[in-house]
Amino acid sequence: MRLTQLFLPTLREVPAEAEITSHKYMLRAGLMRKLAAGVYVYLPLGYRVLRKIENIVREEMDRSGAQEVLMSGIIPSELLEESGRWSAFGPEMFKLKDRHERDFCLGPTHEEVFTYVMKELTSYRDLPKILYQIQTKYRDEKRPRFGVIRSREFIMKDAYSFDMDWEGLDVSFGKMHDAYCRIFDRCGLKYRVVQADSGAMGGKESNEFMVMSEVGEDEIAHCENCDYAANVERAESRPDIREKQEEKPLELVATPDARTIQELTDFFETSPDNFAKTLIYTVKDQVIAVVIRGDRELNEVKLVNILECTKDDLRMAEDDVVKNVTNAEVGFAGPVGLKVDKLIVDEEVTYMSNFIVGANKTGYHYKNVNYGRDFKGDIVVDVRKVSDGDVCIRCGGRLSISKGIEVGHIFKLGTKYSEALGAKYLDENGQEHLMIMGSYGIGINRIMAAVIEQNSDENGIIWPMSIAPYHVIIVPVNTSDEVQASLAEDLYDVLSRNGVEVLLDDRDERAGVKFKDADLIGIPIRITVGKKARDRVVEIKDRRTGESLDLTVDQVLGYIK
Ligand code: ATP
Ligand code: MG
Ligand code: MG
Ligand code: MG
Repeated sequence: MRLTQLFLPTLREVPAEAEITSHKYMLRAGLMRKLAAGVYVYLPLGYRVLRKIENIVREEMDRSGAQEVLMSGIIPSELLEESGRWSAFGPEMFKLKDRHERDFCLGPTHEEVFTYVMKELTSYRDLPKILYQIQTKYRDEKRPRFGVIRSREFIMKDAYSFDMDWEGLDVSFGKMHDAYCRIFDRCGLKYRVVQADSGAMGGKESNEFMVMSEVGEDEIAHCENCDYAANVERAESRPDIREKQEEKPLELVATPDARTIQELTDFFETSPDNFAKTLIYTVKDQVIAVVIRGDRELNEVKLVNILECTKDDLRMAEDDVVKNVTNAEVGFAGPVGLKVDKLIVDEEVTYMSNFIVGANKTGYHYKNVNYGRDFKGDIVVDVRKVSDGDVCIRCGGRLSISKGIEVGHIFKLGTKYSEALGAKYLDENGQEHLMIMGSYGIGINRIMAAVIEQNSDENGIIWPMSIAPYHVIIVPVNTSDEVQASLAEDLYDVLSRNGVEVLLDDRDERAGVKFKDADLIGIPIRITVGKKARDRVVEIKDRRTGESLDLTVDQVLGYIK
């Protein structure tokens, strides 16, 4: 492809909303453009990369024995009603009606559809099966951000396994695990496989594939000594021998009933190292009591418990604050499945006008307290059970916490969907059983961004050869020099004919501009055709190492292949 023909709109400046490297470079290098919040279009270079990632995924899925299919992008509500997800999915699901007022959604994931299709197979002889598709998914993310890392339309490879029993599921799960490792290795990613929560999917065991990156939205605890690694949402440590965070007994603070705002502020300024408080607020229509515990020395507030309340409870709480809150706190009914990363005052959380604030003891609570008015600052609630430096639950080693981008997720689902939709088979004796399922997802676009996060420098992207949009870019320094121009053309011909994917920068631009663009778009090998063209010598430059060497034209093909 010649740059004079390529549709490659590069940018010097990027919109301020592009906060992270991959988002910036994907815009600057003309890989994609934004159409709406979390909705992107892919331009030629970007689409080539996406297709290469898809092909790696496809090859490895096929190698694992999985079979490719294509399901519909829109799903009738009935299927999701059967599993209960029509409502459980919440506002993340894009819903629509047809002209007959029938409900559909744009598929956010396809467990129900695959299970429905599998119902055609009813004999043990048909199992096991792993089916997959590479398809566009839709999720109306609350906060689309970081470009294609969290978008509302994205391409997912999703696979589903159907087995006769749990041992069979272990085998299918293992195959997917290994295929995922091969996929991420081939994409040139540094990643960790971590234990994860099964969350809304429902199921038993799950692993996330996390690309290590400072811009990751997930946090991972991993042991410096053994191979224990888990998403902090479910990581465990050995609290009995914590390195730094010894469990201090909660000191109870005696405070009088609420009188003045000043008194309240004083209480917060002067409360001892350990304190506890209970906040009651509403998220959407749900009323929730959050019990937090603070440690001034560590400058840290931890979530102790989240309790779902009804409006009636709250009325009771207002009348009888102390009893209710204290009970809640000692009752420890356990988290109710609400995931909270941070409780901070922002547009998403509508706080009740009156908080209850105080110590963990009857009689020591303030009523009708307001954020902002009565005390300053955000309270950041940390829901993690583990911290940096904690002791590994498995080997006693030191845990350290780092950030990751979730690029893949594999689940042992069990019978949740086969039961809901009735996917059953008959065994050799004619006995009926539910199929045992697994589900396995990979974010294709997110991989692309994750690769850029790990493979770039101040000049631009550094594509690994396996997914580079082109392998080589030929840059004649001076296109009006006939010797250079024709040698560049010759090379372009030879390489193209030999299956090398090559760009020829035949633009009438200064060499500096061409070099800058070649670096920005990240082509792994640059061939510069300059003054030495007269001796049929060109310069080969490695984008990653910056190393260059001179080769004769005849040596080039051998060097590249
Ligand atoms: P996240 O925790 O980031 O919201 P998820 O756990 O909701 O992701 P899964 O349901 O496990 O995602 O989907 C499988 C894969 O699809 C994810 O591992 C990720 O690579 C990709 N993915 C999910 N949501 C998005 C999104 N909004 N934009 C791009 N890729 C996504
Ligand atoms: Mg999600
Ligand atoms: Mg996740
Ligand atoms: Mg996930």
